[in-house]
Amino acid sequence: MRVLIAEDDPPSRLIHQMTVEKCGYECLVAKDGEEAWEIFHNSEVDVVLSNWMMPNVDGLELCRRVRGEKRDAYTYFILLSARGEREHVLTGVDAGADDYLTKPLDVEELKVRLISASRVTSLHRQLAEKTAVLEQLNRRLERSNHRLFEQARTDPLTGLGNRLLLQEDLETIRGRVERYGHEYSAALCDIDFFKRYNDFYGHLAGDEVLMKVADAVKGHLRSGDAAYRYGGEEFLIVLPEQSPASASVVADRVRRAVENLGIPHEAKTPPGVLTVSAGVAVLTPHKEAEVVAPLKNVDAALYRAKRAGRNRTVAYDPPVED
Ligand code: GH3
Ligand code: MG
Ligand code: MG
Repeated sequence: MRVLIAEDDPPSRLIHQMTVEKCGYECLVAKDGEEAWEIFHNSEVDVVLSNWMMPNVDGLELCRRVRGEKRDAYTYFILLSARGEREHVLTGVDAGADDYLTKPLDVEELKVRLISASRVTSLHRQLAEKTAVLEQLNRRLERSNHRLFEQARTDPLTGLGNRLLLQEDLETIRGRVERYGHEYSAALCDIDFFKRYNDFYGHLAGDEVLMKVADAVKGHLRSGDAAYRYGGEEFLIVLPEQSPASASVVADRVRRAVENLGIPHEAKTPPGVLTVSAGVAVLTPHKEAEVVAPLKNVDAALYRAKRAGRNRTVAYDPPVED
């Protein structure tokens, strides 16, 4: 334990120092409050034993400054004063002092107080260590919670958002459409004849294709867009503030990018390269929380793209009302 003595009276200073050192504690000595504050700033101090009445920075002011410092370790503050009246004790405690001794100083009493100080600072140290460990555990827990949260919403094969994330995002989107009248379009890209691809090339090769198509989708997202693995070989892109026409342009770029990958697909008739079809529509938020409801028109457009021969993009045409 290291004790800093702030005492302007040289004989008293010497006596305090000898007592502290006799108790086996390390001792730093300052001739006034100003110097004590300097030393406190530049060293680790466990206990400050300070005279109250000193020129310039007195003991009370020194105590306030010490308390105002943000430090990990606790500094035990003992005020010394010739005045022992009750209100002075309270003023000292109010300023943050832990203990109060009256002058002339009783050496035995000082020893007892220093033992208390040593216990208190040691308890504070233990507490600080435990708090640091707890804080570290807490940070780790937060990080792992965050990872788990992300994992639960990510498709492990493609790294895209999964159905759970889509469901949550659709809820947010519904709120934005209802409250602010924002417009969202969605494009659903579905790999053509993928079952045959799997059957012919094997499931692992199929997985590789899924990753490549997902990369093509990711490569065409702008900030604000979001992509999800909607089903086995279906990828959904949600495009905020986009009309179906501009969303179709994005979807068709993805379609062409997949075609340009030139992945051979010998199992389709006639044989060729792997392609996707895309359906595009405005996202119509539905009162029901069911995920499929707002995507009904996107699905319908995709169905039409498939029916029309695949490897194409079709935007949803609302039925003409009479
Ligand atoms: P269409 O052109 O009409 O879309 O025909 P399709 O064969 O692509 O559609 P279908 O729905 O009949 O088949 C989808 C296939 O996707 C069936 C399934 O084996 C495959 N699939 C779904 N999930 C995965 C996956 O995680 N990995 C692999 N390799 N294949 C998958
Ligand atoms: Mg499908
Ligand atoms: Mg398919």
